[in-house]
Amino acid sequence: MIPYGKHSIDQSDIDAVVDVLQNKFLTQGETVPAFEKALCDYTGARYCTAVNSGTSGLHVACLAAGVGPGQTVWTVPNSFVASANCALYCGADVDFVDIDPLTRNLCIKDLADKLASAKQNGTLPNVLIVVHFAGASCDMRAISALIKPYDIVLIEDAAHGLGGRYEGSAIGSCQFSDMAVLSFHPVKSITTAEGGAVMTNHAAFAEKLVLYAKHGITRDQSKLTQHHGPWYYEQHVLGFNYRLSDLHAALGLAQLAKLDNFVARRETLAKRYHELISATPIAAKVQLPLLNSDNVESTRLTKSAWHLFMIEVLQPDRTAVYEKLVASGVGVNVHYIPIHWQPFYARRGFRRGQFPNAERFYQRAITLPLFPDMTFEQQDHVVEALQGALL
Ligand SMILES: *Cc1c(COP(=O)(O)O)cnc(C)c1O
Repeated sequence: MIPYGKHSIDQSDIDAVVDVLQNKFLTQGETVPAFEKALCDYTGARYCTAVNSGTSGLHVACLAAGVGPGQTVWTVPNSFVASANCALYCGADVDFVDIDPLTRNLCIKDLADKLASAKQNGTLPNVLIVVHFAGASCDMRAISALIKPYDIVLIEDAAHGLGGRYEGSAIGSCQFSDMAVLSFHPVKSITTAEGGAVMTNHAAFAEKLVLYAKHGITRDQSKLTQHHGPWYYEQHVLGFNYRLSDLHAALGLAQLAKLDNFVARRETLAKRYHELISATPIAAKVQLPLLNSDNVESTRLTKSAWHLFMIEVLQPDRTAVYEKLVASGVGVNVHYIPIHWQPFYARRGFRRGQFPNAERFYQRAITLPLFPDMTFEQQDHVVEALQGALL
């Protein structure tokens, strides 16, 4: 079975982890700070807080933004549930902005309309979490301009985006946002097994991110209210143990060195999917993801990380196509069940039909295999199986 996504591990990854096991601290040593610095160097963001998952990163990003009871966080429905759950962890409410059917990212017009009515009703959000769906950046310049008149913290859920670019900057640079959250789950651009990071250019956010990710404890002499001796520390807020271990960070450092190669290979395969599928009679039966060259006006400077390759099946029996592909050894997947359709969110009052573009996308979507080690032979097999399933 060809999986829809898969990590790439080579000897350099193994050596890096073994080196920590044999020679270094397993946690709270020098490897996590080295990984954090490497992520800053790669993305161009000033500060990085490594954490033990992207989900933890979203949680501490919301806490650093001051999210709490009585507040509201907006995000998109076509994402992993973690993009919305982080608001509820903090006791806040969540609401959604529908997507643009072409880019599959947050719809700029819907955001503008929703902000206008929220302003009138006094229901403006405190935080907006945008998702760079499948690795292609949202239009961050437009989004940041829309929220500028308001006191809204902009967080990028960049779990799909590491290795992609927007207007010439790396996704994760926070050029247009307050914070960007990365994930290093094995299907993402690079992996630490489990892990994540929060990037920011603001010292005040960086300080809070570290505090919330490390039990709410500080040893900063200038912050302590008492001074008992060199052992002394104080807990100032209710934080969590969300630290990444040095073992995981060693894997992340070795992976980061290969990130650009991984993304280049993903891009080659994505373009090849376009060419192969467009040349077959099934081209009219599916909608392919935008290639970078079809994307917004700043094409030269905008580049997807190609986390996932989703097609939309433009006929009613998506499930049959899915089943035929699986029967042919193609491990397809579907991303994502709209978050507001989850029973947990339905109990909070969300209804079907509220975000029609995200819902229509879900009903047509199939994620085809895409990962750096995928061969052209495997890809040919996927396209043949897709033809068989659709004809
Ligand atoms: C993977 C993912 C997350 C969660 O990351 P973990 O590291 O698995 O906790 C959050 N948001 C999106 C969009 C994701 O794809």
